[in-house]
Amino acid sequence: MNRVLIITGASRGIGAEIAVQAARAGFDICINYASSGERAEQVAQQVRAEGVRAMTFQADMGAEAEIVALFKAVDETLGTVYGLVNNAGITGKFCRVDELDIETAQRVIDVNVVGCLITAREAVRRMSTKHGGKGGVIINISSIASKLGSPGEYVHYAASKGAIDVLTIGLAKEVAKENIRVNAIMPGIVDTEIHANSGRPNRIAERAHLLPMGRGGQPEEIANAVMWLLDDNNTFTSGACIPVAGAV
Ligand code: NAP
Repeated sequence: MNRVLIITGASRGIGAEIAVQAARAGFDICINYASSGERAEQVAQQVRAEGVRAMTFQADMGAEAEIVALFKAVDETLGTVYGLVNNAGITGKFCRVDELDIETAQRVIDVNVVGCLITAREAVRRMSTKHGGKGGVIINISSIASKLGSPGEYVHYAASKGAIDVLTIGLAKEVAKENIRVNAIMPGIVDTEIHANSGRPNRIAERAHLLPMGRGGQPEEIANAVMWLLDDNNTFTSGACIPVAGAV
């Protein structure tokens, strides 16, 4: 029986690449998405082509009931979850704090932080030896923005990622004796649609001169790090927030 991995926001970008790499490593995968059902199904086909099982599930990470429904559907379709990658995330619009509206701030916190806490709750209820589970791995996709603060771009987003780092450290300690490891990856700027969706399609080219490597990252470079954290031999890494950011 393959281990079961849930990846939130896996219809495109970093999440989709994690799904393909994890399929190659033998995980059965739930591909969560918000609205891109067709693209999620395309990722599922790539996953199945690796000889493992895949399901897609639409659930808004900003809505508790939908997150609960996602975990229930995975229980019924693939079996008990072993791994959770909290990848779904939004930046909200580009703006300074003095231009920020409450809707943007609230939505970014709801999806990036509250959603991450609720998925973690559902995962721990299934993975923890305290609840009769066999253990597992939780990986949160933070951002190097949590260290840089993203002034003039989206401090609200950076702040949400700072919260993810802290919840990673706290949860890792909380469940350390329950056979669950919790870590975060902090990507630098990566070539995905997230930039165009926040109104900055050329953001990587515009910032290339500020980047030590002179380039942004590719989704597979983030997925490689996630796979390292998922690895069975990686038994002593927990509570770590690891920059994968090209020396930023
Ligand atoms: P992306 O290309 O915009 O993809 C975002 C994914 O999240 C999509 O699958 C999207 O689903 C899903 N999603 C968005 N809102 C959702 C919601 N409310 N509920 C469920 N799923 C939702 O983003 P990405 O660049 O791959 O980013 C992935 C993660 O890496 C995010 O947490 C992001 O903050 C983090 N990150 C990215 C960068 C970067 O430069 N790209 C840098 C640092 C950190 P639909 O397709 O259905 O909308």
